[in-house]
Amino acid sequence: MLFEIIHKEDKEKFAQVHKDKKEEDNTPINVEFRILTKKGKVKWISHLCQKVYTEDNKYLGIRVSNQDVTSKKLTEESLRASENRFRTLFYDSPDAIFLENYDGIIIDANKAACKLHGMPKEKLIGKNILDLVPSNVRDQVARDFSKWLNEEIRHFEGFSLTVDGKSIPVEIHGRKIRFENNNALLFIVRDISQAKRAEKELMLAKEKAEQSDMLKSIFLANMSHEIRTPMNAIVGFSEILSDKNLSTKERKEFINYITQGSNTLMSLIEDIIDITKIEAGQIKINFADCDVDSMMDELYATFLKMKNKEGKRRLELRLNKSPYAENLSISTDPGRIRQILSNLLGNALKFTPSGYIELGLIIENPNQVRFYVKDTGIGIPEDKKKIIFDRFGQVEGNKGLDAKGTGLGLSISKKLAELLGGDLTVESEEEKGSTFYLSLPVSREIKEEIELKKPAPVLPMDFSNKKFLIAEDSILNYTYLEALFQKTNVTLLWAKDGKEAIDICKKNKDIDLVLMDIKMPVLNGLEAITAIKKFRKDLPIIVQTAYAMPEDRERSMEAGGNEHLTKPLNAEELFKTINKYMS
Ligand code: ADP
Repeated sequence: MLFEIIHKEDKEKFAQVHKDKKEEDNTPINVEFRILTKKGKVKWISHLCQKVYTEDNKYLGIRVSNQDVTSKKLTEESLRASENRFRTLFYDSPDAIFLENYDGIIIDANKAACKLHGMPKEKLIGKNILDLVPSNVRDQVARDFSKWLNEEIRHFEGFSLTVDGKSIPVEIHGRKIRFENNNALLFIVRDISQAKRAEKELMLAKEKAEQSDMLKSIFLANMSHEIRTPMNAIVGFSEILSDKNLSTKERKEFINYITQGSNTLMSLIEDIIDITKIEAGQIKINFADCDVDSMMDELYATFLKMKNKEGKRRLELRLNKSPYAENLSISTDPGRIRQILSNLLGNALKFTPSGYIELGLIIENPNQVRFYVKDTGIGIPEDKKKIIFDRFGQVEGNKGLDAKGTGLGLSISKKLAELLGGDLTVESEEEKGSTFYLSLPVSREIKEEIELKKPAPVLPMDFSNKKFLIAEDSILNYTYLEALFQKTNVTLLWAKDGKEAIDICKKNKDIDLVLMDIKMPVLNGLEAITAIKKFRKDLPIIVQTAYAMPEDRERSMEAGGNEHLTKPLNAEELFKTINKYMS
């Protein structure tokens, strides 16, 4: 009867205990199983049965007791499930968890803790937690630990030593608990390397943004100074020039000042254009043979003149060419190398009141040369050695020297050096001086003889019988061009806007060339070019404009222009360009 209502999964267990029982064995059988009640409910029964004998050992029968233990069973089961749950939570937690006594000795640790320190649990147990902290921060962590114990802080940060000796930043949360009737400490240790890295990156980005902001303000202040100084000379001396009583000598001298001021302004504008182009990735490197020997001679001569002009008598300029320089021709962009070295020499001159400046060359190996500019000037503080290569980066104060500048030169130079496949670095000591090194990988050849490729001289050109149209709305610019062309015998026509340019071209079929400004009233230069090219396809049109960005050149070409020259016009370049179309 009982057997019938036993749960089908427990029937075998019940039968087996009875079957296993030996005849002579009179110990009681105790087995727990499930039954199904009439209503189909499951109940747990504790079944106890034992054979009963009389005193003289006569078998009387079997005593059976069945007790409903369902509720005890359910409690036990839920306890076991809960224990399992917590065991899983403890052992499989992604954070390292340690159970310690009050002396810091580890009583238990989970998988993540073992992984963090690269040790099996048996090795971790019994260790003092402080032995797992890198020695350099052990005192600090011990201090924080006592603070935490005294409830002065809720959690603390420290470092954990990994199996390969790495130190990992961790955040430690703890709790005092009772464990197996003893006081114990439960610590959750979380690896925060990633958070720390992100925090550091954020801090760096913030510092960089702040620094860039500050550098920009300094740049604007300096820029204003850099523009005002030459402008002052240009405006001032231009006014004085109108004085009729000036002698020819004075006139020449003042014109010289104006030219100097203009050149300074020009190089400032070129710097700004260069940095813009570099940042837009639009700078062009023109590889050509560079005759190192004569380039160094030229630079030396230019800066010697400059030094003498500045009256720096206590400063010596030295040139130290490697014996090989004489025969050295390297394939690089000679213009850009000259630009970099000029910037370094210019800086050296600015920042060296006395002693010497040396321009030199070291041939490192057959594939690499190193130019250097060494000075005995004010030097650069250690913490500024990186910043000076950033845009607008300067050393504040510069030891009281009145050497303003814009902080663009070195940043341009470094980028150019990199574009040439090399690098620009500095070694410097405050008060002692600096050495800037320009390293360049060179396809170097030691030549028997160097062919000096001298640029073809710009001829005093003769454009008799030629007719040029100048489309230019500014009378000043037209007058300048008129003066430039004076000696060439060319016939000049002048259009003051784009529409007039078209009309003049229509009326004068014999025009040989047009110099076209872009920004003009009525019709702009680009529209005028397109219109003119429709009826004079072969007429050379040279754009001459203050628009100096790479995209401006593209626009000129798209409109149909043959060349694009930027203002202020360089006379030599202008004549060379025109000449291309006159032969
Ligand atoms: P600028 O000279 O126009 O300020 P640079 O980018 O050429 O711009 O130089 C940046 C800064 O680097 C200078 O303002 C100066 O503080 C420092 N510097 C450059 N060259 C030297 C040098 N030879 N000696 C000392 N300081 C230098």
